[in-house]
Amino acid sequence: MNTALHRDLARILGEDGVASDTETLVRFGGDALGAYRAFRATSQLDSRAAAVAWPTDSGQVTGLLRYANSNRIPVVPYGAGTGVMGAAVSADGAIVLNLQRMNNILDVSAGDFTARTQPGVILEDAHAAMKSEGLRLGHDPWSRPIATVGGAISTDGVGYTAAAHGPMGDQVLGLEVVLADGETIRTRAVPKSSYGPSLERLFIGSEGTLGVITEATIKAFRRPESRVMRSFVFPEFEAGFEAIVAMQAEGVSPAVMDYGDEPAGGGAPEATLYVSFEGFAAHVETHVAQAESVCTRHDGRDGEPGEVEQYWRTRHSSAERYREEVLNSPDPAARRLRRSSYRMDYLHMALPISQVLEYRRRCALILEERDIGVREWSVWGRPEFFSMLIVDERGSDAPESRNMEQTIDAVLTLAQDMGGTMEYCHGIGLKLAHLTPAELGSGYKPARDIKAALDPNGILNPGKLLG
Ligand SMILES: Cc1cc2nc3c(=O)[nH]c(=O)nc-3n(C[C@H](O)[C@H](O)[C@H](O)COP(=O)(O)OP(=O)(O)OC[C@H]3O[C@@H](n4cnc5c(N)ncnc54)[C@H](O)[C@@H]3O)c2cc1C
Repeated sequence: MNTALHRDLARILGEDGVASDTETLVRFGGDALGAYRAFRATSQLDSRAAAVAWPTDSGQVTGLLRYANSNRIPVVPYGAGTGVMGAAVSADGAIVLNLQRMNNILDVSAGDFTARTQPGVILEDAHAAMKSEGLRLGHDPWSRPIATVGGAISTDGVGYTAAAHGPMGDQVLGLEVVLADGETIRTRAVPKSSYGPSLERLFIGSEGTLGVITEATIKAFRRPESRVMRSFVFPEFEAGFEAIVAMQAEGVSPAVMDYGDEPAGGGAPEATLYVSFEGFAAHVETHVAQAESVCTRHDGRDGEPGEVEQYWRTRHSSAERYREEVLNSPDPAARRLRRSSYRMDYLHMALPISQVLEYRRRCALILEERDIGVREWSVWGRPEFFSMLIVDERGSDAPESRNMEQTIDAVLTLAQDMGGTMEYCHGIGLKLAHLTPAELGSGYKPARDIKAALDPNGILNPGKLLG
């Protein structure tokens, strides 16, 4: 235990605001990036923080950052640790800045359609507070029951209602952020300013590397008068994808759009599209009718009755399972590291619409050549958002091989080469930091210059995002 560090932090946060015992350091030393899918980043999962700190207000965050900055101690902001890219994995000797006690909903304004929250508020709680005012949160990821507002902003996460409301970053109106040197900035909580370089945008998706979000004003949406959900089954992936593109071209605007097939054992599997439409009853009726017409034209047929309700009801069950099996377990660190008996990965690329099918075709060849199985191809929220779930069929008992890691790099680099981005949903973290120079290209140096200007001593979440 580093007793001097513990004592100094206790002076800033109080004795119950800091811990440095091994169990706590291990508990909050990582996120949901398990060893079975960390690949290149695996060795960094063993980094060990020196202390975990729980501030209760922005003033304590300021005090902690001033102290860490002048002593050159790394600081890793930590929401709920549900990120899957290792963005909240600790660094050796770091202070884990755990924001879970900053969990107050400060205001919900039905008049302004906004909510003001501290960063550690769980998304589900933000949604529930809005619901009591007849409103709702525009970001609805699988992990709504377990992830925080600050974490969702810092990864610019994507959820079920992204088709209607965009990713978490689009929900942000204003932020309060404490910078590495302890200075606080507050941006104006309105949808638009004519001052072009948007300061709050800098902190959206920047994984705690540029500042610590201590308060957020986010949008709240009126609950719709009507909602209709439908499912359509297509004979193969291409047909449904073309239907989705045609819907977009014809102005059909779903609130939820989730499409995918699950190849197993060869042949062209059927693919299912789930869509929902929300708003005034007349608006919904028109859009449903047009969606039906487009899907029929593309060989789609109605899904099984009851299927769509089941899909919607169970949309958060993976997170509920994660809470039970990992977060609430007596040894979450061991659980999260050994959660799967497979080497697998779930990749989420964004590509120009015109490239998606060609990209899928080329990936299928790469994967087949390298003996990697595909469990799912899918599109979520927008036709550009393309995902695949891939598995090293040999299981985790197979001798360690770099095949999976090299294959992942190959398909992500292909997305970049085809004019897309290597990841649209979960962030970069430790896991993909080695591909950031290729991702940003000529933008890499300016991005590093921004980091150096805001955090000259490099204390904020080192090794993540920009490497
Ligand atoms: C079962 C399951 C399902 C998931 N489903 C989805 C999904 O549908 N969509 C999706 O987008 N993601 C999903 N995720 C991933 C994860 O829930 C998201 O990335 C989420 O946004 C992370 O939030 P968190 O509070 O856990 O953040 P953490 O994992 O704790 O942190 C994430 C990053 O944000 C930084 N950070 C956290 N708080 C702050 C702050 N206040 N200021 C500055 N930086 C901060 C951390 O340093 C880190 O870099 C899922 C994860 C699991 C386990």
